[in-house]
Amino acid sequence: MSIALTDYHVHTPLCRHAEGTAKEFVEAAKRAGLAEIGFADHNPMPEHFDDWRMDYAELPRYFEFVEEARSLGFPVRLGLECDFILGREGWIEQLSGMVEWDYLIGSVHYLESGWDVDNPKHLFRLTDDSIESVWDRYWRLFGQCVRSGLFDFVAHPDLPKKFGHRPKGDLRRYYEPAVEALQEANLAFEINTAGLRKPVQELYPAQTFLELAAQASVPVIINSDSHAPGEIGAGFETALMQARNAGYRQVCRWCGRQRIVVNL
Ligand SMILES: [Zn+2]
Ligand SMILES: [Zn+2]
Repeated sequence: MSIALTDYHVHTPLCRHAEGTAKEFVEAAKRAGLAEIGFADHNPMPEHFDDWRMDYAELPRYFEFVEEARSLGFPVRLGLECDFILGREGWIEQLSGMVEWDYLIGSVHYLESGWDVDNPKHLFRLTDDSIESVWDRYWRLFGQCVRSGLFDFVAHPDLPKKFGHRPKGDLRRYYEPAVEALQEANLAFEINTAGLRKPVQELYPAQTFLELAAQASVPVIINSDSHAPGEIGAGFETALMQARNAGYRQVCRWCGRQRIVVNL
């Protein structure tokens, strides 16, 4: 494994669908040969919002978890995976001012209120007839998320393929505007290896997206989206190979919301 690599998309049990102690995550990062680990749990909302994130009152416990990890003598970054929801941008701004984050990740999970596109309970809504409009809506939001100026990088670019559904035809019609937005906003995106562990069994994003992004010199980071210590660094060899094949020779890190570029 390249010593340049870090894992910046790691969840904690506070989100109610992850497991592991701070020590177990740090030990796993050391075992995987990573240079740093960064926690980025699902952001709380001011009200109780859904069943897969910490409540706002639990945020201090999240900071304690990260502090505990930091006390173990390994580089630990503090991040947050923030849901980009139209009309709720002010809340992300509020969160961003609360503590000294190393980075904020922007994610589009919600296509509309109550419809998180990666949640298997909405799988019935993904049909041959609907998939085109699902992708249209998703990528429009993705572009808005990129251009919002709220985030340091965006997560799992082509998430709606999670269960294996894709519209017909050349998907560059979705990738090209997304890559253009990233380039114009000077924003990074992640190669997320969780897709390898989902029904689609491939990285987010698709190789064609990666190639377009590399050609446009859009900065990248490789992350696992771990919800357990055993997933830290999972699939990184595959991600590294595909990143190199696409033309990438560098990855990013963050400290205090400053982007640092590291050679692979
Ligand atoms: Zn999660
Ligand atoms: Zn996510």
